[in-house]
Amino acid sequence: MAKIDLIELYYASADLPAPFSPAWVPGSSRMKTGFYLIRIATEDGVEGWSGFSASGKERAGIGDGIADAFLGTDPTDIDMVHERIKILANGGMRHWWIEPAFWDIKAKLAGLPVYKLLGGTDDKIRLYASSGEVRGIEARREEAEARYSEGFDTFKIRVHDWDEAVDIAQIQDIAEHMKGRMKIAVDCNQAFRMTLHGDAPIWDLARAKRFADAAAESDLLWVEEPLYMEWYDDMAELAAYSRVTIAGGELHTSGYPELRHMALKGCYNMFQPDAMWSGGIKQVMQVGELCRELGLGFSPHSWGNGLGFLINAHCMAASGFAGENPFEYPYCPPGWTVEARDAILSHPSIHDNGWFHMPQEPGLGIEIDHKALEKQGVCFFRAKGKERHWMPEKLVGTAVRREVAQEVV
Ligand SMILES: [Mg+2]
Repeated sequence: MAKIDLIELYYASADLPAPFSPAWVPGSSRMKTGFYLIRIATEDGVEGWSGFSASGKERAGIGDGIADAFLGTDPTDIDMVHERIKILANGGMRHWWIEPAFWDIKAKLAGLPVYKLLGGTDDKIRLYASSGEVRGIEARREEAEARYSEGFDTFKIRVHDWDEAVDIAQIQDIAEHMKGRMKIAVDCNQAFRMTLHGDAPIWDLARAKRFADAAAESDLLWVEEPLYMEWYDDMAELAAYSRVTIAGGELHTSGYPELRHMALKGCYNMFQPDAMWSGGIKQVMQVGELCRELGLGFSPHSWGNGLGFLINAHCMAASGFAGENPFEYPYCPPGWTVEARDAILSHPSIHDNGWFHMPQEPGLGIEIDHKALEKQGVCFFRAKGKERHWMPEKLVGTAVRREVAQEVV
């Protein structure tokens, strides 16, 4: 088996066409989307890619640890990958996002798309349009109408006003407005708060129950993350109480061990792990298997960049749940467009009337637009054999980039 011989890390960013105010970072507005990319390659040149959302340059120093952990290893040994990611996590970061790059190689060597390597047979998966912003009632109606006209039959909105009556009014209005045309889900983003730019309410069990009652009366499809992510007892009480599906699980970075505990305890009726955050493809698939055993719903989370969408789509297509639950399509124009989300991919993951056709080429189907990457990104770490190069962005000019590209391509 050819060993891992090359590791590169990139930082890239892309302009958004309009400001985007993510519901999960109250008070913030951004004009750019950031990416980290990892490229690994075997001695005989088989490449694996993955990528993660970047806040800034917070991962600039991770190259040496990743190189120490993975150069010279067998890329198809996913158990080894998991063990070493956990070792690295003791240094403060859980790099689950690099694990799919190993699956990319493993599936390329097998000559199969990842979802087929995992036993999946769903060549296309039904999507739901996932809005990313808190909006007012009129703007929400317009947004729902736009998504409906594009072919989506399910739409997920965001609420978390200080006044719970505002939240309830919005779900009642949109459910009534789209009645018979679209199913509505709602994400409360209560599992964690990023209060760097502004505060937001944190719901208690009583408010979550009142909201779940209103959601059930409006026939919503699910209520996502209505409580803080560690309040396991309250979550279990709510899930047992609620007449509407209670969903969540995207940010449990301990992965399967924690999500298994939560599933057995009954914290959610539907689990939404994300391979990039909560245990890589391997543990997300374990969560899916457990959900099947326990009679729970399953649909991975995919908000982030276009690589996260593709990677989690493979988990969905492999899980056997694609015919039961729709899969998240992160899409919130005018700020969060498909073109910006997938800025460094050669082919944006465009939906087809609310469906996604799974890539059929071996691996994850991540095809990097190298011209876009050169223009919008920088390779900040490269390790090949015994050589290591750490390249802070300000020191990396076109000549260095060209040198790296020539050596690698
Ligand atoms: Mg969510």
